[in-house]
Amino acid sequence: MSKKIFIDGLEVLVTRKRIKRMNMRVRDPEGDITISVPYFTSDRDIIAFVRSKRDWIDRAVSRVKARAASHPEPVSREEKEARRADLKRRIAERLPEIERRTGLRCNGWTVRDMHTRWGSCNTRTHHVNFSLMLATRSDIELDYVILHELVHTVVPGHGADFYALMDRFMPGWKKVRKDLKY
Ligand SMILES: [Zn+2]
Repeated sequence: MSKKIFIDGLEVLVTRKRIKRMNMRVRDPEGDITISVPYFTSDRDIIAFVRSKRDWIDRAVSRVKARAASHPEPVSREEKEARRADLKRRIAERLPEIERRTGLRCNGWTVRDMHTRWGSCNTRTHHVNFSLMLATRSDIELDYVILHELVHTVVPGHGADFYALMDRFMPGWKKVRKDLKY
């Protein structure tokens, strides 16, 4: 059950859920603002929450809109190749740094035009694939995916061992994963 409310000129889609804390997101590509709230949250509390986050919201909305404007869909082959080159450059810069910091190592990597996953790791060969979709994501999101796949070189599944390593090497990873909808 969702409803739209207006707060200081912002249109906010409010959804009541079985959750403990309010949770707000600004969605691609239009910058729509959505907020999930526990069932018995008053409108007054929602309004106060949104007001307290106003600076963050304004920044997030302009970031999302700027990203959508600079990367209109669908993309041409030239644009795809430009994105691929840029993403490869970013990975080549960041992956060795994360390997050095964590002591985890992959055995080579490839950027692939895959649409259902941000990355994958062959747990036998330790070769890692990164999705071209990462080209339009932030550095912290890219770092999260790099780390996630590097952790798979030592822990195959998503069990407690996996999350223990994620916690150790990127304490704020859960929020990043939420933004990525990973
Ligand atoms: Zn995984």
